[in-house]
Amino acid sequence: KLASREFHREDTVITVKGVKIGGGHLAMIAGPCAIEGESLLMEIAGKVKEAGANILRGGAFKPRTSPYSFQGLGEEGLRILRAAGDTYGMPVITEVMDPRQVDLVERYTDIFQVGARNMQNFDLLKELGKTRTPVLLKRGMSATVKDLLMSAEYVLSQGNREVILCERGIRTFEDSTRNTMDLSSIPVAKGWSHLPIIADPSHATGKPDLIPAMARAAVAAGGDGVHVEVHSCPEKALSDGPQALLPEQYARLMEDLRQLAELM
Ligand code: PEP
Ligand code: MN
Repeated sequence: KLASREFHREDTVITVKGVKIGGGHLAMIAGPCAIEGESLLMEIAGKVKEAGANILRGGAFKPRTSPYSFQGLGEEGLRILRAAGDTYGMPVITEVMDPRQVDLVERYTDIFQVGARNMQNFDLLKELGKTRTPVLLKRGMSATVKDLLMSAEYVLSQGNREVILCERGIRTFEDSTRNTMDLSSIPVAKGWSHLPIIADPSHATGKPDLIPAMARAAVAAGGDGVHVEVHSCPEKALSDGPQALLPEQYARLMEDLRQLAELM
């Protein structure tokens, strides 16, 4: 299989606008869950950049549980994300939900994000496989690590060799966290695959006070980066406000991660 260590012994390193991901290079992805407006995103982008983030995130097409919840700004959101990334010199990542959106989203983004709910949207994965834009593939909430790697295979087999895996928590009986972060999936995936794997402690825990510990744990476990939702006014956020870190909390987390990386 193309994702396996047997096929490719060395860790895959993906370079996006000068930012390397994998093989010891950490992707520090940060930004709001949803793009809500230009001035707000510019403010958050400036702050996460200053804290040390190297990739800016923000959703323009949001996969909400309820159809009555904010669905995202669509193309206007993509334009704002691109502008913020360019202003602060950060590559950008945003979610694509449908094969018909691939061309549009590719015009604005540097990395495609496939959300947990679409990990097995095989038509989407095949369409992304035909592009040469890196794909961050999030683990489905009831998918095994093997399922995740098989989904990566859908992208790789179409010719796009740049896939980043992401552990974002799975559904279990435990209800103290939004999902259960499967920390062991990081060394498991690293053993089986050469692809980079990062962690998303924001969606995994759903709780700001648990995010720093799980982010440190992910890096200590060999993860290739951390994906964190940051908002300057979580109470007013249109999506995932309760799990957002304030920019200053994110800055403290980044400081801890830098110290940890030095120890390792
Ligand atoms: C997100 O990153 O905002 C998101 C919807 O994540 P997930 O697909 O992991 O739920
Ligand atoms: Mn979110």
